[in-house]
Parts: sequence; structure tokens; C-alpha cells
Amino acid sequence: MSQAMHDALIDEATATIAANAEELTALDQAIGDGDHGINLKRGFEAIAAEKTKLADAATGDALMQAGMKLVSTVGGASGPLYGSLLMGIGKALKGGAGLEASVMEGVALVKKRGKSDVGAKTMLDVLVPVAATLEATGGQPVPARVAALRTTADEAREATKPMLATRGRASFLGERSVGHYDPGATSTRLLVHAACDVWERTT
Ligand code: ADP
Ligand code: MG
Repeated sequence: MSQAMHDALIDEATATIAANAEELTALDQAIGDGDHGINLKRGFEAIAAEKTKLADAATGDALMQAGMKLVSTVGGASGPLYGSLLMGIGKALKGGAGLEASVMEGVALVKKRGKSDVGAKTMLDVLVPVAATLEATGGQPVPARVAALRTTADEAREATKPMLATRGRASFLGERSVGHYDPGATSTRLLVHAACDVWERTT
């Protein structure tokens, strides 16, 4: 991946999180403690502050460093979880795996770290189907792939609304978690869109 693509990914992710921080916080106020937007804003601003260093690194190393930044700057469950995602993808890329397999590795690490899986009303409800779509569309042209990824992320985030939370803070609410979008699934959807926008623009 080129230096320009690293730069664009960092810019796009940081911008979408900043633009939607209030919405993410409002969602977390409904079924959590109201810090998801501010948590991620802090984390991505810390990554953006190291943009020059990250742009120069190989993609695998840059992702591992960005993941560690998230772990160290984001208070809350989402920091270590998104950190695991990026570190898992980065480590697999460094080991020579392709993009699809590397994303699968990252998602597997989130499951392990969160002791969770699909159906618990978390970011995994978007991450798992998105990783599956990435794999299933391998070999298709980029415009078709990004279109499929965006649709998958939109539908998967939508599907978290009627779910009952069984992991994370929202699970403390029991039945009262039903009828609200999961904040982490919502931020994952935003980040998938950001990555797709960059991928589409730079190919
Ligand atoms: P906290 O819950 O510690 O306040 P955040 O508000 O930043 O952290 O993030 C909350 C989001 O983290 C949830 O909406 C959910 O998507 C995700 N999450 C929480 N616990 C888990 C878990 N065990 N596995 C996967 N995702 C989780
Ligand atoms: Mg929270």
C-alpha cells in the first residue's frame, strides 16, 4: 500500500469519527456510558498526530503502531478492541498474508479479546459480515467490492437495533438495550465507509 494511501486512510478515518462523534456519544448515552464518540475521537487524533511516521512505515507495521496507539489512548472497551483489530491485520500482513486473510485475523483477535462473537450487539456484528464480504468478493473489480462492503456494513449495523446486548456495558441493561443501535457497530460502519472511499479513490 502506498504512502499516499496510508495518509488518505488516516485522514478519512479521523474526519469521519470527528464528524460523527456526537452521534456516537448519543448512541452510547442510550445504552452505555456516553463516551464512545469522545473515546474514538481521542484515539484517531492520536493516530493522526503520528501521520508522518505512519505514512513512511510498511502497511503492516503502520497498522500495528496505529493499533497500539488506540490501546494506549482510548479509555473504554473499544480501544483495546479496535487496537486488536488493527494489530491483528497488521501482524498478518507483515507475515505475508493477503488483505482478506489479514482482516479475518484481525476480526478473530477482536473475538478473542472481547470473548464475544456475532449476535451479542457489538462491533463484531458489523466486522464479521464485512470480513466475509471482503473474502467473498475477492477477484471482483474494486467498484463492485466497495459497493458490496458498504451495503453489508449498512445492513449489519441496521440489524443491531432489535438485538439484545449480551456483551459490553449495554448488556447491563438487559431488555432495555433492545431498540437502539450499537455504538461500536455504528463506528465500525463509518470506518468501513471511510476505507471504501479511500480504496475507490486510489485505484
Ligand atoms: P465502554 O463500553 O468501555 O464505554 P466504548 O463506549 O468506547 O467503551 O465502546 C462501546 C462499544 O464497544 C460497544 O458499543 C460495542 O460495540 C463494543 N464492545 C463492548 N464490549 C465488547 C465485547 N466484549 N466484544 C466486542 N465488542 C464490544
Ligand atoms: Mg462507552
